Amino acid sequence: QLTGLAVWKDIYYRKAKEEGWRARSAFKLLQIDEEFNIFEGVKRVVDLCAAPGSWSQVLSRKVYLPVKLAPDAKDEDLPLIVAIDLQPMAPIEGVIQVQGDITNARTAEVVIRHFDGCKADLVVCDGAPDVTGLHDMDEFVQSQLILAGLTIVTHVLKEGGKFIAKIFRGKDTSLLYCQLKLFFPVVTFAKPKSSRNSSIEAFAVCENYSPPEGFNPKDLHRLLEKVGSPSGVDDTDCCSGWLEGPNKVYIPFLACGDLSGYDSDRSYPLPKVVGGTYQSLDPVQPPIAPPYKRALELKKGTSQGGGIRELENLTLDS
Ligand code: SAM
Repeated sequence: QLTGLAVWKDIYYRKAKEEGWRARSAFKLLQIDEEFNIFEGVKRVVDLCAAPGSWSQVLSRKVYLPVKLAPDAKDEDLPLIVAIDLQPMAPIEGVIQVQGDITNARTAEVVIRHFDGCKADLVVCDGAPDVTGLHDMDEFVQSQLILAGLTIVTHVLKEGGKFIAKIFRGKDTSLLYCQLKLFFPVVTFAKPKSSRNSSIEAFAVCENYSPPEGFNPKDLHRLLEKVGSPSGVDDTDCCSGWLEGPNKVYIPFLACGDLSGYDSDRSYPLPKVVGGTYQSLDPVQPPIAPPYKRALELKKGTSQGGGIRELENLTLDS
């Protein structure tokens, strides 16, 4: 018999294993899609900060496989998905992997090369630094990842495309919102049901990429800095002299996912099974290079130098 103690504290962790996702984060992207329909018409995607790969799995299942498995599938119609992370990832069908740092210009160049002059319809970024617990510091490092993502966006995203990025809500959220609004007329901060309320994370859903007229990606940082300056940015109706007082910007904030569905902050009873004992499932894909691996290598003196290593893992036939 199951007892009162037989509860699962994180329903999405269990569901991820049951449904074959490498991480519970998969549900966040799926719930964002339920609200914003982000995969509609998408043929080319960049997945930034992708390891261990549950968002890439979602992209593979939602964007790549439906085309691959269509009866009249042609190779030239196959969608292109490029995933980047500092960490290596086990292969995922239809996903090209690039191992590198998204804040490094060389990584951006590698991604751009894969697009071979074409543009992406969607860029997603679930990047997170190692959280220190110092909110200001964590928020700052997180914002650097988003800006690195935005740099890649300005090079690879087509006009009208979408950008989804993890953010940490904090005192600079309004600034970030206004910076994103320079490039996207519609920006919504979304909190999927599967993201715990106790977490400061949310996701910026940026729609209809429209860079300012005459924009040169080389000027990105200068333009973003101007947003925070007292004079604001010329030629934009958003965010000039706006962060304080009566001009304060109100950010659209939306809970998404089935609101009557599972709540990530609740505990749920384990499912009843024949014989009364629930068998916990193994993780779908154990990490290839967990943080403790490097510690062990350093201890043994077998650590190897970094740099971009590219893994061409386009497994078209598996
Ligand atoms: N979306 C992933 C999934 O569904 O499996 C989970 C991403 S995990 C929350 C955050 C990832 O950000 C980590 O794998 C980490 O290695 C990556 N990351 C952090 N900083 C990075 C950087 N500068 N360049 C590339 N990846 C980075």
